[in-house]
Amino acid sequence: MSEIHDIGRMGALCSEESLLFRENHASFGCLPEEMGSVVKFGFHVSISSSIDKAVERAQKLGCDSFQIFTRNPRSWATKELGEGEPEAFRAKRAEAGIEPVFGHMPYILNLASPERKVYERSVASLRTGLARCETLGIPMLVTHVGSHLGKGSELGVERVVDALDIALGGDDSKVMVLLETGPGSRNSVGSSFEEMGRILNSIVDADRVGICLDTCHVFAAGYELRTAEGFEETVNSFEVEIGLDRLELVHLNDSVGGFRSGRDHHEHLGLGEIGLRGLGLVVNSGFGGVPMIMETPINDTRGNLGNMNVARGLVGMG
Ligand SMILES: [Zn+2]
Ligand SMILES: [Zn+2]
Repeated sequence: MSEIHDIGRMGALCSEESLLFRENHASFGCLPEEMGSVVKFGFHVSISSSIDKAVERAQKLGCDSFQIFTRNPRSWATKELGEGEPEAFRAKRAEAGIEPVFGHMPYILNLASPERKVYERSVASLRTGLARCETLGIPMLVTHVGSHLGKGSELGVERVVDALDIALGGDDSKVMVLLETGPGSRNSVGSSFEEMGRILNSIVDADRVGICLDTCHVFAAGYELRTAEGFEETVNSFEVEIGLDRLELVHLNDSVGGFRSGRDHHEHLGLGEIGLRGLGLVVNSGFGGVPMIMETPINDTRGNLGNMNVARGLVGMG
């Protein structure tokens, strides 16, 4: 993978010290040295008016990394990029020194759909998304997996694998697809680590597919994060079913919905059902070592800057 990607994978900074930390915390995964200076935090930021504006928004928030929709998230149509827009984005990002940047596909995609029309549109859309990321110099593209609409997990997994094989087969860039863990809602595919593992093990171009773990989603799907024992079990299960080396990104969100609620409803860090202790475990051990992107609300309670402060305060508290 590209240089940008290598920098994003801070698990590579594995040292004896961090291994010791790992042992002491009875958790898994490789932690970088001087955690405080290397944990990358960022937000999903808006691309409104033009894509390069996202870089300025990320800078204002003190982001080390950020995520954007590469196009309108609520429509199938992809508006052409304006003249000079990709160049402006690339130049501003390089100047700001913020990396990696993650792209995010629209929510309307359903890569597991048994309905032909939606499925074909979703696959085509993913291909377009990969091409756009390549144009913008974005190394990784996050997508939700989708729903089998009652047809069962096995068929859902098959559809997703085929979708990825088609989309990646027709694209010769090095852009990676990151499958986002689901919240355990009815008929969803990819809410269990076991299902994600089956998908990853069946893809032809497996090196180009990784995982984005959303803390709100996995908690809502029934993976414990709040206690050291429960967290260890969750990390262990991820390691067994998927492999920690496949984790490229964490979406660091608290959850409005309770444990195993199946609800996809994000909350400010520390003000939801997961709480600071669980989020601290995520940042400092087990799932740490990859960029942490927040998709938290902006309202009267708190804005993005407030959540950035809380996130930075989590470093070292695991
Ligand atoms: Zn997410
Ligand atoms: Zn979500």
